[in-house]
Amino acid sequence: MKTLELQPAIRHFEDFAPKDGTADLFDKVRDLDDYLREHPQPCMEALGFHLAGPAARDVRLRDSAQREYRAVMLGSNSYLDLTTHPDVVRASKEACDRFGFGMGAVSLYAGASVLHRQLERLIAEFYETEDAILFPCGYSGNVGVLSALCGPGDVVINDAANHASIFDGAVLSRAELKVYLHLNMRHLEKILQRLPDSQRGRLVVTDGVFSMDGDVAPLDEIADLARRYRARVMVDEAHALGVIGPTGRGTAELRGCLGKVDITYGTLSKAPGAVGGYCAGSAALIRYLRLYARTYFFSTSLPAPTVAGLIEVFKLLMEDRAGRDRLWANIRYLVDGLKRLGFDTRHTESGIVPVVVGDEDLLGRFHRDLLLRGVYTNVVTYPAVRRKECRLRVSVMNSLTREDLDFVLGVFAEVGRAHGLIG
Ligand code: PMP
Repeated sequence: MKTLELQPAIRHFEDFAPKDGTADLFDKVRDLDDYLREHPQPCMEALGFHLAGPAARDVRLRDSAQREYRAVMLGSNSYLDLTTHPDVVRASKEACDRFGFGMGAVSLYAGASVLHRQLERLIAEFYETEDAILFPCGYSGNVGVLSALCGPGDVVINDAANHASIFDGAVLSRAELKVYLHLNMRHLEKILQRLPDSQRGRLVVTDGVFSMDGDVAPLDEIADLARRYRARVMVDEAHALGVIGPTGRGTAELRGCLGKVDITYGTLSKAPGAVGGYCAGSAALIRYLRLYARTYFFSTSLPAPTVAGLIEVFKLLMEDRAGRDRLWANIRYLVDGLKRLGFDTRHTESGIVPVVVGDEDLLGRFHRDLLLRGVYTNVVTYPAVRRKECRLRVSVMNSLTREDLDFVLGVFAEVGRAHGLIG
């Protein structure tokens, strides 16, 4: 007798996320483990590469089986290639000799060096604010700022595509959380209009450059709306710093509203090429954050060698000597090329170029074949984007040569056609 073989249903990463609770917390852990054992996912492989050298244009990577690959790097947010800049590396090495490689305490307990203070002053000068504060990490800084400033009775209004750390900070603050449709000013205004007069603290928060689509917030309009409805404005310039605006100061500069933003937040992990977060604003705001941002107060500060390198980075950024023009020439060339080939790159206006695929399995295979031909990109799947919006995230660096970009476009054309992504 013929038995009917039941095909196991295809499952996706979102199916294993915590939902209603299980008898044992580890049920979902086992569930995912069993599933992946039986159904190896190309996307999982794509998430498991390790660098075997610097995050530079000609990159060496190893997979989980220790196989080594050499590729053109399109997966680093070090847009200006400052991770390997000789001045930055030299300063970092010297600070390691002077200060050692770690700080040994949180900032307020003598865990911050004179270099930390110098970097804070430089960041404040860069944004023409009174002061700035450093956080050990970009993610934790957002959580710290939002949970320090907002609380029960306040409202935090987020663009739907804001970074996870902004949402998590808002949730931790226990303020009411409202979300407007991505970039939709009419929706934002409707939300602001409907707030009761009795509504206490109001904060509108937006990414400057959105980390998944590379598009840019209309920060000038947001600032105007916020003022009209008595709200404060916070911008996260993570992917904008050093990249957009006439001198690389970010979204507020690009949109002509530098003085109208109450809280300028950013990370030191993208164009600055290191790690860390910062917030720039009035001296009173920064003093408040030092005492009430728990991810500052209770978390050990950035290592001095990192801070020393970042001081050099900000000097380069302030003098606009970090190679932004070369970055933009590369962004334009690559985006035009990908669009001409027929890829869906959305409306990017930054160093982040999405190539939307929409199917996790196809995405994993596409990624693998690009790498086998010498092009490294990142895959973005749930939970960073909705499953049907899964994509490659191509990050552009200023050090890529025209030959690199032509090679990349040739590989995208060949592999894209082989997978039916373009005609
Ligand atoms: N904000 C935004 C907009 C980001 O894209 C990121 C980076 N993933 C973060 C914050 C968190 O920064 P970090 O990776 O430096 O912790």
